[in-house]
Amino acid sequence: MTSVFPEHGRSQEEVLAALADHRAKDLKSDGHAFAFVYDAGDDARAIAREAFVASMGANGLDPTAYPSTRKLENGFIATCLELVRAPQGAVGTATAGGTESVILAVKAARDFFRKTRPEITSPKMLLPETAHACFHKAAAYLGVEIVTVDVDESFRAKVDDARAKMTKDVILVVGSAPSYAHGVVDPIPELATLAKEHGVLMHVDACVGGWVLPFLRENGIEVPPFDFTVDGVTSLSMDMHKYGFAPKGVSAVLMRDRALRDAQYFACAKWSGYSIVNSTTLGSKSAAALGAAVAVLGHLGRARYRENAKKMWNATEKLCAVVQTTPGLRLLAKPDMNLFAFTTTEGDVFELADRMTARGWHVQATYAFGASPAHIHLTLDPGNSDNVDAFAADLRAAAADLPPTQQPPAQVLMLLDQLAKGGEGAAKIDSSMLLGALGIVDGQMPSKSAPIHRLLNAASPDVREKLLVLFIGELFS
Ligand SMILES: *Cc1c(COP(=O)(O)O)cnc(C)c1O
Repeated sequence: MTSVFPEHGRSQEEVLAALADHRAKDLKSDGHAFAFVYDAGDDARAIAREAFVASMGANGLDPTAYPSTRKLENGFIATCLELVRAPQGAVGTATAGGTESVILAVKAARDFFRKTRPEITSPKMLLPETAHACFHKAAAYLGVEIVTVDVDESFRAKVDDARAKMTKDVILVVGSAPSYAHGVVDPIPELATLAKEHGVLMHVDACVGGWVLPFLRENGIEVPPFDFTVDGVTSLSMDMHKYGFAPKGVSAVLMRDRALRDAQYFACAKWSGYSIVNSTTLGSKSAAALGAAVAVLGHLGRARYRENAKKMWNATEKLCAVVQTTPGLRLLAKPDMNLFAFTTTEGDVFELADRMTARGWHVQATYAFGASPAHIHLTLDPGNSDNVDAFAADLRAAAADLPPTQQPPAQVLMLLDQLAKGGEGAAKIDSSMLLGALGIVDGQMPSKSAPIHRLLNAASPDVREKLLVLFIGELFS
């Protein structure tokens, strides 16, 4: 690590040139990324940049000192509420991202029941195994226990399983609209009915779908019910920095009524400084990304969102058909939206991912978990939708003559085994040993990722987590 703090300052050009240089290796928004990038084009990016800078100095910590932050947030939330057809009296909060929206929804549920049902001492949430990792983070941070709900062969939550696992300690039922990995919407009405029957809350995670599903519906495409028109849905999250096409740092958490949101807030007057009331996890927070979000909405307008939704859906149907007609490939589930998962029938899926990388595409290699096998995840956005024909041609070519699925080398499997057993053997394994075995030197990734993916895929989820902590710790040392 090298410090970035010279004794005497450098010129603006020099400093900015260094920043631009760092950015050179980052993933590009050039239509070649089929994960991570949500890009509505040059004009959306340009106006976001200007608006980001214009709102940068506003601090959302105090909406009375910075009334612009209140104006921006109320306008943004009114738009979100309208899109997901929230009833009169519904409210919301602008957050820094999907993870924060979910943490706040879980916190609101926990604190709501602490007040209304203090007899619940070990609160639980019913969570489909396909729900986003951020619910596990919320659970870990907030001391809420997860009860995993199984999914069916289409990767949708099994309502019967949820019902069987409902106990008097459950405070929250969760469904995704859609799930990130497979792009399928859980049976939200059935889950919401179950929640309501037991007098508990129901959160719909529409982080990735909230800015697409309403516009698919407006295009006449069938969308499963998922929003506030479903009786029993009490909160919903939707990310503006995904398909809202805003820069990173904006999402929304919406609540059916104010009493629930009161439980989301945190107020403190027990110290010698200024009293606080925070709607989110942060204290001081810039309105930069929120300002950019509002500018992008105003510039693109509903029509562009509707057009983009249609374009992304057409590209998705095309690519799904390619997967279904290419020998050696298998679609894991027909998606409800423009993101999906596919795998290989016998060839090595991680080799396939490397071949696509070599052809200039970014795809997301994903590990086996529960009912879901190791697969490649694709996210369609307006940018890459223009390139699906070229992508499809490369995918067909790359899927031919794949080597059979491979296991990590025996010596690596032994290390995994030691890590799984824990104790002294595991303590002796240091990160350099593991990373060296994988060809990661000085945080530089090797040109082929398949060996790393095979290792992580072969590891149990617990060991996988340990390895990831080792790896990221190494990157930041
Ligand atoms: C992306 C995503 C999240 C988390 O959002 P972040 O903005 O990355 O924190 C939660 N749920 C789903 C379904 C998502 O796709």
